[in-house]
Order: sequence, then C-alpha cells, then structure tokens
Amino acid sequence: MALVPSGGSAAVPAGSAGLFGNVVAAPAGGRLRVVLPTGQPGNRRLMQGLCVNDDEMALALAPSQDVVVLVPAGTNLALFVAKIIRREGYFRAVLVQSRGVLRAGCPQRCGGGPGALPFVECRTVADFQGGACGSCVWQSRGARCGHHD
Ligand SMILES: [Zn+2]
Ligand SMILES: [Zn+2]
Repeated sequence: MALVPSGGSAAVPAGSAGLFGNVVAAPAGGRLRVVLPTGQPGNRRLMQGLCVNDDEMALALAPSQDVVVLVPAGTNLALFVAKIIRREGYFRAVLVQSRGVLRAGCPQRCGGGPGALPFVECRTVADFQGGACGSCVWQSRGARCGHHD
C-alpha cells in the first residue's frame, strides 16, 4: 500500500487510508500534515458506530470539524487510522479534537509547536475525559493537561 506521498509539496489525496474516507496528506516541515475529514457524513457514521457508551455517543452526534494532525514523515496512514480505531485513547482523543472547542495551547507539548504530537490545535470538551485536550488524551496524559478539571 503506497498511501504516503513520496515527494512534491502539493496536498496528496491519500484515499481511504484504510477506514477513514478522504484523508489528505501533505509534507510540512519534515513531517506530514494530515487532514482527517471527521466532519464528513461517512466518517461521522463510522465514529458513531465505534462508540461504546452514552458519553461517547453524545459527543459523536454533536457537530464536528475536520482534524489536522502532524505525524512523522513516512507514516503509514492506513496504519495510523487503524490505531485510531483500535486504541480507545486515540479514538477518544479524536472525538475530543473533532467536537471540542478551541483553547489556548496547554503546556503539554500542545498547540503545534516543535515536538507537539499529534494535533495542531488544542481543543477540549467540558465533562469528557476530565476536560483534557485531544493531544493530552492521545498521550494518555489527560490528568496532567493544563485544561484538566
Ligand atoms: Zn492541548
Ligand atoms: Zn492538554
């Protein structure tokens, strides 16, 4: 599977990237800038189908925006998406990021700075994961997020 663009600077549609439809990736400062189209109807249905409790479903049904992630160059996007679906922490982080409100970057390597992984923006949802931002939930460090309750 050759989903990762091998050169050039134009945004490259990465196809279905496994399960999420219409993922787009482009090289950015030595990394890969990937747009997960979590606002699109098919992907909303996918995430709703993966919810395992009422809290997650309430969030999955809320309006959503696309999510931008920065991943190391050469990342296999199909595998990256598979991990989102198979790892609860990653799935919840994408829920936070796609449904959350924009915040000032928390001190936990958030906000798109050097070494910040994986989300470009800092977003949180009140009363979900303790109010921790998507990047901190992703890193299983929700309790240490600057926005945590
Ligand atoms: Zn944050
Ligand atoms: Zn945080």
